[in-house]
Amino acid sequence: MTRAQDIVLPIAGQDTAHFDCVFPTCGGVCCKNGRPPVEEAENARIEQNLAKILPHMTEKARARVERDGFRTERKKEGLRALAVTDGWCVFHNEGCVLHKVGALEGDRWKYKPWRCIAFPLERTTDGAWHVRQWGVEGEAWDLFCLNPDESPKKATTTLTAELAFVRELDDGKEAWRFLTPADQPTPRPSMQAR
Ligand code: SF4
Repeated sequence: MTRAQDIVLPIAGQDTAHFDCVFPTCGGVCCKNGRPPVEEAENARIEQNLAKILPHMTEKARARVERDGFRTERKKEGLRALAVTDGWCVFHNEGCVLHKVGALEGDRWKYKPWRCIAFPLERTTDGAWHVRQWGVEGEAWDLFCLNPDESPKKATTTLTAELAFVRELDDGKEAWRFLTPADQPTPRPSMQAR
């Protein structure tokens, strides 16, 4: 089993940050008005599998998606973001339906945008990773779980799966998410030397 302390990908704050996901107690509040941007290849995979995803969605979100699609024209990081209905991501219905449908097929992450999987790890435009926390990298989201005083649990112990995922992303093992190699994260020297 991969241990968080074995992961060499440099992630600012991983030794000092505190984080403890309490879903479903929180109601999945990180899916409220989060509007993650979606890579074009991720978008295509969701489109291709939409017929089996739609039945799991709320009635209102399903109607919105059937009428206008699941992305908005609003762009983040140069990519179109997921739409919201009543303030929640269209794919939220007592949890993430992309996660649910993937899990039913044996891979909880196969349809989820990588930014949702990595949360609360975030990649800045220069390619460096950090743990999202209030007061770090200009964090603007007031989510309670990003408050380092909210939990005594260290991110290194609670984010093992997320840390492993972002390492794979940077290593190119999640290359399907990007249409062209140019879109992929650029391995940094520390990664290339391994
Ligand atoms: S895609 Fe899923 S995890 Fe991401 S914001 Fe929407 S409901 Fe949440």
